[in-house]
Amino acid sequence: MEFSLTEEQREIFDTTAKLARTHLGRRPGRDGSVPDEAAWFRRRWQLCGRQGVLSNLLPEHHGGADVDALTSAIMMQGLGYGGDDFGFVFSVAAHIYACTVPILRFGSASLKDRYLSAMGSGKLIATHSITEPEAGSDPFAMTTRARRDGDEYIIDGAKCYSSNAPFADLFVIHAKTDERAGFMGISAFVVERRTPGLSVSPPHKKTGLDGAPLGDVFLDGCRVPLANRIGEEGNGGVIFTHSMNWERTCLFAAYLGAMERQLESVVAYARERRQGRRRIGDYQAVAHRIADMKVRLEAARWLIYRGAWTLGQPSSELVSMDAAIAKLFISEAAVASALDAIQVHGGAGIMAESDIGRYLQDAVPAKIFSGTVEIQRNTIARTLGLGSGH
Ligand SMILES: Cc1cc2nc3c(=O)[nH]c(=O)nc-3n(C[C@H](O)[C@H](O)[C@H](O)COP(=O)(O)OP(=O)(O)OC[C@H]3O[C@@H](n4cnc5c(N)ncnc54)[C@H](O)[C@@H]3O)c2cc1C
Repeated sequence: MEFSLTEEQREIFDTTAKLARTHLGRRPGRDGSVPDEAAWFRRRWQLCGRQGVLSNLLPEHHGGADVDALTSAIMMQGLGYGGDDFGFVFSVAAHIYACTVPILRFGSASLKDRYLSAMGSGKLIATHSITEPEAGSDPFAMTTRARRDGDEYIIDGAKCYSSNAPFADLFVIHAKTDERAGFMGISAFVVERRTPGLSVSPPHKKTGLDGAPLGDVFLDGCRVPLANRIGEEGNGGVIFTHSMNWERTCLFAAYLGAMERQLESVVAYARERRQGRRRIGDYQAVAHRIADMKVRLEAARWLIYRGAWTLGQPSSELVSMDAAIAKLFISEAAVASALDAIQVHGGAGIMAESDIGRYLQDAVPAKIFSGTVEIQRNTIARTLGLGSGH
């Protein structure tokens, strides 16, 4: 068993952390103003394209570096460590793992040729839409339909909570193609923004991940070419599971980076801040709280790395369980450590201008997206042959 990172992985971490610190922050100007949110988002997006972040998993002929899952996770860890706009990092990761990955793994050669290079270069922003108002934790209850009509599908329905949707050029849409086939009755499609019948809501205001635009997607008689189906008809369930396994490990590596930075600043604060003529870190109650944060961070690190390693193994039966364990643990750890960081900072921890409170706002949604923590527990229990009632 090898626990150390390679030289290349360490370099990737440093480079992406620096990129996030210097260029992917929340504010473009020193005066703190954001003149045009969409333009600022796209400018940083294109930079990520030029720096090879968006294309990291793509093969060379699509302009990528063809790195393995663990190296990709370490890149996300660097972004999460370096930047102060975690929402933007989340958006980048959602594009890669929920949109690029399924096309790369299941798409036809022509679909890959049409979209992958542009998705990797920063020209295109993509969103993944499966959730519907009445189909969240149970996405297979979806009512969006795709009806075959000659060389096209006609898609009707409505999706909600799609990350990146308000600024997206491409939509990875899941729709039912066979009402009676359950898991095998869903198919996935790439739909271009300019497709007649497709419309998107403005970004929702939300608590946390505020740098990630989230919107609803409406499909009203959208005609999509047959060639835009990802993989076989009926393979949408498999595609969705595959994308979620990547998201639950590699996207969540960004939280690992954020937790590392958070721990460093909490340790520095506890060493400096004095009350009762002692440094607060000399009080055992404070020091133990920080020790617990360190334990959570290290446990999360190895679960995420192992999940990413499992992704790279040929058809491991444990891939979904490892991904669920990693996602479950790190999302709960991120919330617990964000609360601890606030407690150590006292009143300063809840001031709006402090980064410390923002960790909590960005951590809470982690327990919900990519499948809630309850759904991850269901997956783990099911793999153990338990909990058939859910
Ligand atoms: C920041 C953010 C980004 C997102 N991005 C995307 C995206 O890009 N694309 C997309 O398609 N979706 C996205 N989502 C949607 C997300 O996947 C859903 O919110 C999530 O799956 C939960 O669905 P729901 O909100 O409808 O909650 P519900 O399913 O209504 O769940 C409500 C509560 O009931 C519990 N519950 C439900 N069913 C069960 C069960 N069987 N067993 C135990 N407990 C259960 C849940 O765990 C939860 O606590 C995003 C959500 C957030 C918050």
